[in-house]
Amino acid sequence: MIKAIDIHVHPHDEEAIAAKGARNQQMAKYFGKKTQATSLDELADRYREKEMMAVLLNSTDESSSGIKPVPNDHIADAVKRNPDVFIGFGAVDPWQGRVAVDEAKRCAEELGLRGLGELNPGRQGFYPNDPHFYPLWETASEHGLVVLLHGGMMGSGAGTPGGMGFKLKYTRPIPYVDDVAADFPHLKIIAAHPSWPWQEESLAVARHKSNVYIDLSGWAPKYFPPQLVQYADTILSDRVLFGSDWPVLDPDRWLGEFDQLPIRESSKKKILLENACKLFGIELEDSEAS
Ligand SMILES: [Zn+2]
Repeated sequence: MIKAIDIHVHPHDEEAIAAKGARNQQMAKYFGKKTQATSLDELADRYREKEMMAVLLNSTDESSSGIKPVPNDHIADAVKRNPDVFIGFGAVDPWQGRVAVDEAKRCAEELGLRGLGELNPGRQGFYPNDPHFYPLWETASEHGLVVLLHGGMMGSGAGTPGGMGFKLKYTRPIPYVDDVAADFPHLKIIAAHPSWPWQEESLAVARHKSNVYIDLSGWAPKYFPPQLVQYADTILSDRVLFGSDWPVLDPDRWLGEFDQLPIRESSKKKILLENACKLFGIELEDSEAS
C-alpha cells in the first residue's frame, strides 16, 4: 500500500558524502543546514514508515572532479535489500563515452536499475543535445532507462566565487532537453526541478513532447509560481511528478506545503503517485492512493 513515490532522493550515506568531495560542505553552507549521514537501509525504513517509495539517484562528475562516484552496485544492492521501497537510478559520466554507454547497459541488464541520473549538465559540463552523447541516449532508450536531467539553477557551487566553475548555461531546457526529446521519442526524460529561471521553457517542452516529465523537487511548494501550479493541475497533470530532493528538502515539508496548494485532489493523486506508477509500470492494484 503506497501513498506516494518520491522521484528525487539522493543517497546521503558515508559513501555518498565522500563522493561529493568539497561540494558537501559548500551545499551545507548554501542551504544553511548540515545533514547527518544516513545509511540507505535507515533511509528505506523512513520511507517505509511513511508508506512511500523513493527513487534513489546516483551521480558522478568524475571527468571534471576526478572523484570516483559511489558504484552503481551500491545503489543496486540497497534496492535488492529494500525492493518494496527503492527504485534505483545509476550514475554515468557522459564524457566517458563508450564506458558510459557500457555502464548504462550494465545498469539495465545486470543491476536492475530503472534509470540514469541525476545527470547534471551544469556540473558535468555538457550539452545534452550534442550528438557526441547520442549513443548514450540511444542505449537508455533501447533499454527503457528513464533519464533524469537536472534543470536550471543548481545548489552545486551556489554562493561561492565562480560557482565552483559550474556553468548554468548547460541546464537550459530549450534547446538542450527539447532536442533530445525530439530525437529520441521513446526515451522517457524527467526534467528535474522547476528549472528556474527557465520554468516556462520546461513547461513548454513537457507540453509539446509527451515523453518529457517534470519533477517538482528542490523547491519548497509554497514558493511555486502560479503558472507552475496551474499547469500541474491542468494540462500537465499527467506529466508532473512529486520529488523532494532529499537531503536538501525534507519530503514531509514538501508534502505539507504541497497539500496547501490550490490543486484538485485528482491532480494531486496523479502527481504524488499515479504518474510515477505509470512511468515505472507499477500496478496500482496493490497500492492505494490516499
Ligand atoms: Zn538537481
